[in-house]
Amino acid sequence: MRKLENRIAQTLKTDTRLVVQGRNPDETFGFVNIPPYRGSTVTYPDAQSCLAGKNRYTYGRRGNPTSEALENLWNDLEGSAGTVICPSGASAVTTAILSAVKTGDHILVTDSVYRPTRNFCTGLLARLGVETSYYDPLIGAGIEALIRPNTRVIYMESPGSQTFEVQDVPAIVAVARKHGITTMIDNTYATALLFRPLDFGVDISINAATKYPSGHSDVLIGLVAANETAFPALKSTHGDLGLYLGPDDVFLTLRGLRTMGLRLREQGANALLIARELESRKGVKRVLHPALPSCPGHAIFQRDFKGPSGLFSIILDIQSDEQVAAFLNNLSLFGMGYSWGGFESLAVPFDCTSFRTATVYNPGGRGIRLNIGLEDTSDLLADLDRGLAAMHAAG
Ligand SMILES: *Cc1c(COP(=O)(O)O)cnc(C)c1O
Repeated sequence: MRKLENRIAQTLKTDTRLVVQGRNPDETFGFVNIPPYRGSTVTYPDAQSCLAGKNRYTYGRRGNPTSEALENLWNDLEGSAGTVICPSGASAVTTAILSAVKTGDHILVTDSVYRPTRNFCTGLLARLGVETSYYDPLIGAGIEALIRPNTRVIYMESPGSQTFEVQDVPAIVAVARKHGITTMIDNTYATALLFRPLDFGVDISINAATKYPSGHSDVLIGLVAANETAFPALKSTHGDLGLYLGPDDVFLTLRGLRTMGLRLREQGANALLIARELESRKGVKRVLHPALPSCPGHAIFQRDFKGPSGLFSIILDIQSDEQVAAFLNNLSLFGMGYSWGGFESLAVPFDCTSFRTATVYNPGGRGIRLNIGLEDTSDLLADLDRGLAAMHAAG
């Protein structure tokens, strides 16, 4: 394999980038993959370079060839100026927010936000003197009315990872730009393959790479990619917090990324097929899938996204815990557990009615979120039908 020339690299399609970027066999004795470099200390060849701090690598926490390979591949996918690797998706979220605020600031956060992000804002961030207000995820350009003189950040998440409202990112970014406000988005649902936030003018793209990039339910990792403007503060905040992820998990994420294009296409197509089928099943009140017209923000999804990934929710036309339990306990292929984006299907109950503050969430039934894995869709549908039958029997 010849060294990839810049002029060729620029023309490559995403699937090719996933394969060729973030590795360099010339530097690894011809081996295809870059190994996990373990190490705290990095030795300097002489006093001059030590005094000048002039090694390519200076100290384990500040990066090694394995972490640099992942950063390079991720920058290539996101079109970002720089990426930091965090020890979980949750720490990617908190690092991104902390990089852009100081005491006395105000931030705007979507009401559909991942619950631990909300807990961070109402907890630690409030203690540091940063105030959060929540906004309707469907607000679009109307967000301008919520901006205060001290608003520093608009935080988006689209689609919401339980309720799937799709946000009008370009409209929100246009308002933010006018007011000099930093924008960031939790892009875990789509990854840069299905939606590239920086192309839409967002400053910081956050990904719980625990999900699709690692893809095998065996790693916790967060990636934060930023443009030229936002990266310096992101990088120094990451350094100040002393964040580091061990090289084995970075290695596994690089390995997962090689097949992410394939997995996303397959899981996205399978999930849409199952979502369409479920729409006509007795006992399913609603299907919340952004590629279906019934989903709030569907038109925006069609406009801005390259396709759906494998996560969606259903609202079951039931009220009792007994019926929820009958449905879940009679699934054999769907595991019951948090996280998603892995190769295996999952089903978890959710309920946002108690903690939303900017909007009223009242779906009129019980919510179940489904992660569709790589199993055969006819097996998965048969499994869901067994769950629905048990649910009806318990009614
Ligand atoms: C899972 C998830 C996170 C947090 O990732 P962890 O690796 O579990 O900390 C953040 N945002 C969204 C949307 C998620 O689904």
